[in-house]
Amino acid sequence: MPDRIFNFSAGPGTLPMEVLEQAARDVVNFNGKGIGLIEMSHRSKEFMAVAEEAEALVRELLQVPDNFKVLFLQGGASTQFAMVPMNLLGPGKKAAYLNTGTWSNKAIKEAKFFGSVQVAYSSEESVFNHVPSSEDYQVDDDTEYLYYVSNNTIYGTQFHELPKTDKMLICDMSSDIMSRPVDFSKFGLIFAGAQKNMGPAGCAVVIIREDLLDRTPENVPTMFRYKTHADTGSMFNTPPCFSIHVIGLVLKWLKKLGGIPAIEKINRDKAALLYNAIDGTDFYRGHALKSSRSLMNITFNLPTPELEAKFIAEATAKGFDGLKGHRSVGGCRASIYNAFPREGVEKLVAFMREFEKNN
Ligand SMILES: *Cc1c(COP(=O)(O)O)cnc(C)c1O
Repeated sequence: MPDRIFNFSAGPGTLPMEVLEQAARDVVNFNGKGIGLIEMSHRSKEFMAVAEEAEALVRELLQVPDNFKVLFLQGGASTQFAMVPMNLLGPGKKAAYLNTGTWSNKAIKEAKFFGSVQVAYSSEESVFNHVPSSEDYQVDDDTEYLYYVSNNTIYGTQFHELPKTDKMLICDMSSDIMSRPVDFSKFGLIFAGAQKNMGPAGCAVVIIREDLLDRTPENVPTMFRYKTHADTGSMFNTPPCFSIHVIGLVLKWLKKLGGIPAIEKINRDKAALLYNAIDGTDFYRGHALKSSRSLMNITFNLPTPELEAKFIAEATAKGFDGLKGHRSVGGCRASIYNAFPREGVEKLVAFMREFEKNN
């Protein structure tokens, strides 16, 4: 694949080549049916099998317990910022949030439409360069849940242990789902936009504990009720067929690779290559505090904004795409999701050494 470059994009992120090739074939002609997957009834035997397999793979890879429903919903991760409180809060109800970056900030804003919010912790003052440990905050007693973002895509921070609380956890895992195991006994609901570690944008995977389906207030519209989708196998209306199919292909690829335990090791190893390169010199400086570093998004700065611009321009010319940091932090960001090849990390590290020498 000589025309492929290394894609460090934070999202949508890089996908496995074999998945892209298969998906491209399936768009034109699915399973020899003579019509493409995206032209086919979502109630057809063929598509029902696609949806069932995608769900089965989510369940198998993440070891989802039987009392949780797996839903494929539209509107990306951001719709979940509102759907979570719309279904789980209501007048007089309260939830706790950990504010560790842009995505939690947006979720807090939505929650306030449906109940009251305790922001139990915020790392905003330090440009979100860390996530808290459980000793750093206190969750109010009268809260329904504690919400957090497991991996802060923009700032390059990640929770390495679960928040310790007796409240049910709700988590936005958009940028690190399928990179490590999930202890579902602590969670009421997790969700993730597909476009970082699982597939195309627009689809969110929601995994919700069954007993929560009946908490939704009466006046919540049909499409925004989790129960609507849980009762219909995510087929209340036409689901995001193509996204669900690609998610299935990505998860099949992940299973073949050895599943979560295998990818977790690979990811640790890839991230260590980059963090070692950053720590080995004063030229590069990591944005995230060491204890909060993300294995998915590596954020770093160079001595000056001018050098950062030069670094990104030269890197882009060499086939390293998507390294510019988010505008809210500046600097550089290398997103190395599950499907990002180790070879690309090795080559970037070599380029970083060379750039430092020349500058
Ligand atoms: C990308 C991202 C989102 C937003 O996803 P959309 O599908 O664009 O709404 C939300 N949360 C996190 C952690 C993300 O990385």
